[in-house]
Amino acid sequence: MRLILASRNEHKLVELRSLCGLPGRTLVSAAACPGAPEPEETGSTFAENALIKARALRDFSGEWALADDSGLCVDALGGAPGVLSARYAGEHGRDGENNALLLRNLEALGPRASRRCHFSCALALVSPDGREFVTLGRCPGTLLREGRGDGGFGYDPLFLPDGHDRTFAELPREVKCTFSHRAAAAARMRPLLRALLPPEAFG
Ligand code: IMP
Repeated sequence: MRLILASRNEHKLVELRSLCGLPGRTLVSAAACPGAPEPEETGSTFAENALIKARALRDFSGEWALADDSGLCVDALGGAPGVLSARYAGEHGRDGENNALLLRNLEALGPRASRRCHFSCALALVSPDGREFVTLGRCPGTLLREGRGDGGFGYDPLFLPDGHDRTFAELPREVKCTFSHRAAAAARMRPLLRALLPPEAFG
C-alpha cells in the first residue's frame, strides 16, 4: 500500500518520511498522481485546510492521503498571518515580501508591541473508506526585528524559537526537525499510522 502526500514539495516529503517513520516507497509525492487537483485552501484553520487537501487527493486517487498545513501566528496581530502565511503579501510563496510585510505590520503597532508568536502545523490523514484523523503541533518563539541566517524557508530567519539562541534559519535542518511544529504534529501522527496502516507499510 502507499500513502500519498498532498504536496509536490520534495523538502516536505523527505522531512515527513523521516518524522513519520515511513519509507520512500510508502509515503509518495502527489507527483505520483498525475492530474491530481490542487484545491483552494478556503478553511479558517490549519486543520480545515489540511483536510481539504487530503480529501481532494483521496477522492481523486481512491488511496490513503496525508496533507500538512502550517504557518506562523503572531499574538499582537491576532494570529496573523496564520492560514494566510504562504500568501500574506499577495502571491503564494513570496517569502521576502511576506517577511517584510509582517515586520511592517508589527512595527506599526509601536515599539512595545509583543513579539510573541508560534508556528503551527496540522497533519490530516484520510483513508480510502472515509476515516479522518488530524494531529496538531506548535512551536513557540519570538519574532525578531530583522532576519538572521540563510537556511530554511518562509519566516525562518525572523523566528527565534524559545530556549534557543539561533533562528530557525541559523539552526541546522536536523536540529530544527527535532522540535519544530511539524515534528510535534508528526510525533502525534506516528502512533495513528502504526495502528492504521499494515505492517508492510513500514518495512
Ligand atoms: P503551506 O503549509 O505549504 O501551505 O505553507 C505554509 C507557509 O507557512 C509557508 O509558505 C511559510 O510561509 C510558512 N511556514 C510554515 N512552516 C514554516 C517553517 O517551518 N518555517 C518557515 N515558514 C514556515
